[in-house]
Amino acid sequence: MIQLHNVFLAYQKDATALNGINLRIEKGEFVFLTGPSGAGKTTLLRLLYGALTPTRGQVLIDGQNVSRMTPSQIPFLRRSVGVVFQDFKLLPNRTVFENVSITLEVLGWGRADIGKKVMHVLKQMGMESKIAMTPQRLSGGEQQRVALARALVNDPKILVADEPTGNLDDANKNQILNIFKEANVRGTTVVVATHDRRLIDNCHKRLVTLSKGEIVEQVEKESTPGES
Ligand code: ADP
Ligand code: ADP
Repeated sequence: MIQLHNVFLAYQKDATALNGINLRIEKGEFVFLTGPSGAGKTTLLRLLYGALTPTRGQVLIDGQNVSRMTPSQIPFLRRSVGVVFQDFKLLPNRTVFENVSITLEVLGWGRADIGKKVMHVLKQMGMESKIAMTPQRLSGGEQQRVALARALVNDPKILVADEPTGNLDDANKNQILNIFKEANVRGTTVVVATHDRRLIDNCHKRLVTLSKGEIVEQVEKESTPGES
């Protein structure tokens, strides 16, 4: 599903953020990416959703080489990869409904289908009573659930999240984590960058640790009875 072959990323000469990354993530996996600030987590995630192309090496998403994509192929990435950020990045002057429907409008869906699908996903997130509100009237946890609805509304193959619980309290963290797990159970490949040791320790998922642009440790998923 995701393959990085000997990937280097330099923002400037002599400022290498990624330094020879080899990583393979299978379809349906749930992977945490961790490591100190400046390790390269955000940079690696940005390669996965096409915000950056590697200076050297290859990034393959579902068999497609991201660095060779022409502008006309970028919709392929938009359909395939949903993205969530620590600061939510919702449109402040749009309603909850509009923030989520945007994903489908960009993909050219018709109005009736958009209405049905957006309401379905907002209901899953427990946000159906807030569709007409703008983001500033919502709590942080609610804003993140809207951001997740926006990322998941077109059933992407991959969900990428950069410190998604960084601004949330414990109750909201758990709620967001459960949404990740549910999406993963439905078949979405999930990649989450986080500093949050408790989140990682509570989840027993595959853990990839970065430091100074290199993978320094990998721990495979621990199998826990009764947990997927
Ligand atoms: P992390 O997400 O693990 O904190 P980043 O991927 O944000 O790490 O950063 C990796 C390195 O790349 C850091 O040294 C950071 O300062 C640098 N960096 C990140 N973004 C840019 C940028 N746009 N321009 C120059 N350097 C950057
Ligand atoms: P996010 O995690 O939401 O992508 P970051 O806090 O990592 O945001 O970075 C915010 C912006 O600042 C990004 O566009 C990133 O590329 C840029 N940036 C991060 N580190 C540096 C750096 N050392 N020099 C220049 N720009 C940077």
